[in-house]
Amino acid sequence: MTDASERLFTDAAIRRESLYGSRVEATFSGVLSFMRRRYGRDLAGVDVAVTGLPFDQSVSNRPGARFGPEAIRKASAHHSWGPVWPWGFDPFDTLAVVDYGDCTIDYGDVAGVPAAIAAHVGGILAQGVQTLCLGGDHFTTYPVLKAHAARHGPLALVHFDAHRDFEAQDGARIDHGSMFTRAVAEGLVDPARTVQIGIRTMFTGETGQGVRVIDAAEAHALGPERIAGIIRAVAGDGPAYLTFDIDVLDPSAAPGTGTPVPGGLTSFQALSVLRALRGFDPVGMDVVEVSPPYDHAEMTSNAAAMVAIEMLCLKAWARGARGHEGGAGLTGC
Ligand code: MN
Ligand code: MN
Repeated sequence: MTDASERLFTDAAIRRESLYGSRVEATFSGVLSFMRRRYGRDLAGVDVAVTGLPFDQSVSNRPGARFGPEAIRKASAHHSWGPVWPWGFDPFDTLAVVDYGDCTIDYGDVAGVPAAIAAHVGGILAQGVQTLCLGGDHFTTYPVLKAHAARHGPLALVHFDAHRDFEAQDGARIDHGSMFTRAVAEGLVDPARTVQIGIRTMFTGETGQGVRVIDAAEAHALGPERIAGIIRAVAGDGPAYLTFDIDVLDPSAAPGTGTPVPGGLTSFQALSVLRALRGFDPVGMDVVEVSPPYDHAEMTSNAAAMVAIEMLCLKAWARGARGHEGGAGLTGC
């Protein structure tokens, strides 16, 4: 019996022959990679590299996001069988995606971590490959933005979060709640093309920056299509970066995170906004702040895996992927 005729394939992460397509693999077994994509550092012919940034030493409250990438990989196995509802297509029929593994984080050289992350991501971008990063705490987005801005110039930022992460800068201090202040100051992010969705916190000294904020109340009132319209209008046509802090979701949907805040979005609301953004094609993306030690029943890592899948569906849509005839399509969104 050849592999092609097996009903169940095993260890696609290291045995798949093509970068494209999905094979059904038992969710409880096999070498883990994000969505069973090939695990490795060969980027020939690759469109998107998924890579983990297991760093959580910038958190103000709960640690644990260093375990985020491995938990999201594990959760993604539950969803890696082919077409994605309601898109009606398998994004991996269009996009060549690999799991590039994790950035090496030297826990004995914390000061050197930002440069290490920027070099790791920059090395991928230099090969003409885009990244989908799995955090790690939200500070990791800062060096990732550095790598992207070096290639694309100042970026529009589409930011899902309970927190604005624009806390005041205090000298050289920087953490997972202030890195966007630094990113704007350094010209990595254009505040006029930045939109934040799901915000429900405020901090003394937090700067406005002229950024468009769709707070949690407005997000609940507007609905996905109108939120998507605002995002498109603010971000414009220039290069944009999409960052998703899992704490934008209500703690009832995502308890396993560093700084949970009640009153957030349901997973359906947040996923529906991503689906409504079809046509939007960011140059880089991430999902951050999944802290498995505080999770229950893999709820948070499961939600994060689905967010990452939706991001890849967005990118596949932008490259022409469409639902098969009779597929669910996007009429339900
Ligand atoms: Mn954040
Ligand atoms: Mn947050």
